[in-house]
Amino acid sequence: MSALEVVRVGDDVFLCRGRDANWVILREDGELTLVDTGYPAYVPVVEESIRQVGARPEDVRGIVVTHGHVDHIGGLAHFHGRCGVPVLAHPTEVPHVRRERLEQATPAQVARNAHRRGVLTWSLRITRAGALKDVAFADVQPLVPGEPLDLPGRPVPVPTAGHTSGHTAFFVPTAGAVATGDGLCTAHPTAPTTGPQLLARMFQHGDDVAGLDPLAGLDADVVLPGHGPVHRGPIAEAVRAARETAAARTW
Ligand SMILES: [Zn+2]
Ligand SMILES: [Zn+2]
Repeated sequence: MSALEVVRVGDDVFLCRGRDANWVILREDGELTLVDTGYPAYVPVVEESIRQVGARPEDVRGIVVTHGHVDHIGGLAHFHGRCGVPVLAHPTEVPHVRRERLEQATPAQVARNAHRRGVLTWSLRITRAGALKDVAFADVQPLVPGEPLDLPGRPVPVPTAGHTSGHTAFFVPTAGAVATGDGLCTAHPTAPTTGPQLLARMFQHGDDVAGLDPLAGLDADVVLPGHGPVHRGPIAEAVRAARETAAARTW
């Protein structure tokens, strides 16, 4: 597990792309906020991404979580344990991160779709990355949606329930950028196309199309997705394109 690409999208905003999941680094005066942390096995890669932006793991002041899927919270226990970093999520997502409930595609669901292009090789790869590990994280705290967080980069949590019940995007007004998590992606190893899109229905745990609505009105032209490359252009256009792919989904 060594794939890493760190893409600078503003002076202090970086999309970090691991093999099968992304995370975002926000930097301010040498201190960092992490948005998500990849699969459990990505911890060394997340640490490498921190070094690539000129910082150390000890410089992380907070971790904000888009949602409680294993490919986004695999490093919480490590970074909280090592550096005491506070971890924040939407109040509705907190019990999911704690695994008091689980809204995630099951191994049986994945197996039923294993004949589809890309699914089998992806599932084997993410299993090696720790997808079946217990990543329950108890120390997550609720954030206040809509208010800039007192963390480097001042991200604003934007509730985007749909992919999961408490899914949240993080808007960085100074960069016109939004970390959209899995509420709006631009590619996925199991998806037939690239570009703004919603993931397959197997991955969704609510009204994912409605979850796009809060994004459309943001003053943003850089999309930092949970899966896929950076997308540049008015976010309202990206949302429109994603709605079209959603309507065309076959599974
Ligand atoms: Zn997800
Ligand atoms: Zn994901």
